[in-house]
Amino acid sequence: MSTNDSEKLSLTDIYDLAFNVFINNGCNKNNASALAKIVHDAERDGSLSHGLFRIPGYVASLKSGKVIGNAEPIIDNSLPAIISVNGNFGFTPYALEKGLPILASVSEKLGIAIMKITNTFHFAALWPETEFLANRGLVGIACTAAKPMVAPSGGKKAFFGTNPISFAWPRTGKPPVVFDMATSRLAMGDVQIAARDGHQLPEGTGLGPDGNASNDPKEVIKGVLLPFGGYKGSAISLMVELLSAGLTGDNFSYEAGETDNNDGGPPKGGELIIAINPKLVAGKNWEKHSSDFLKKLEKLSGVRLPGQRRHHNRLDGGLRKINRELLNKIRGLQ
Ligand code: NDP
Repeated sequence: MSTNDSEKLSLTDIYDLAFNVFINNGCNKNNASALAKIVHDAERDGSLSHGLFRIPGYVASLKSGKVIGNAEPIIDNSLPAIISVNGNFGFTPYALEKGLPILASVSEKLGIAIMKITNTFHFAALWPETEFLANRGLVGIACTAAKPMVAPSGGKKAFFGTNPISFAWPRTGKPPVVFDMATSRLAMGDVQIAARDGHQLPEGTGLGPDGNASNDPKEVIKGVLLPFGGYKGSAISLMVELLSAGLTGDNFSYEAGETDNNDGGPPKGGELIIAINPKLVAGKNWEKHSSDFLKKLEKLSGVRLPGQRRHHNRLDGGLRKINRELLNKIRGLQ
């Protein structure tokens, strides 16, 4: 069997497979369904490094006891514009499911609100949370740290996580404009997929264990990733550390690295989410003003809006091609 062999699965089968694996490995229904939805939505949109590919890692953390499968997040909404969600050592998706509607309601009323999530384990893309807010007419920003995998600009040793940040801008009658990106040149999931599929990495992705630049994913996995865009990406990654750890009180990437059991699942950390109501901040012309800008941008030759690839994939309700080796591995976890 070649590593590129695949099998086709419907989106319903993908959800059911994920749900069963999570239930059979210690999740209760609420956590299993929140996780299975995240996996389903990632596969639907073609976010392949954060869908089924993540299941073995989720299961490893349930089996090692690092993550609690029946965790019940607790929400503290006693401050007007700050929502604190204590995930109680579960995976992040269920904490998001409980917290996001409250964040959206507060932001709708006050114009801005922030939500900090602590004591959770984030292993997914961030666009589900920012898109949730944009679908409620709000601007959404989310970020989370990870554990050391990226050398800050000028360095050769891992210190930052791949530290993703997502931003979503609402549009009536159209999908929101959403970007969601690791602040490393490539997300680690993509490097792992390149290693599995025998692909070379783009220039500037990382250094091998000898500290020299390498395009070989297996060498970079043993070595270190680099930030995107040199010192500029490094500065954004620094900001993500401070927002998602300094401002939530949960782990910086280096702290997560010192305490993680390296079971292959996500490290413990915090997530910071900001929701802004453009109607209250910019006034009633906000939508026409920004949509005129986006129309002009879209008309430029060679330019597309971030999020368009995923939203286009989403329109296809048909079968999805899944790597057979991965599928067999996941079926073995049921
Ligand atoms: P990509 O580099 O694939 O894409 C980054 C963003 O750029 C996307 O929003 C994408 O939109 C947009 N984009 C890509 N190409 C273009 C283009 N030609 N023109 C305009 N926009 C474009 O993402 P990454 O590999 O950096 O990150 C992948 C995922 O990994 C993210 O979802 C991130 O949240 C996740 N991640 C999660 C971590 C965690 O700890 N939970 C850690 C690190 C990463 P589109 O989707 O439409 O292509």
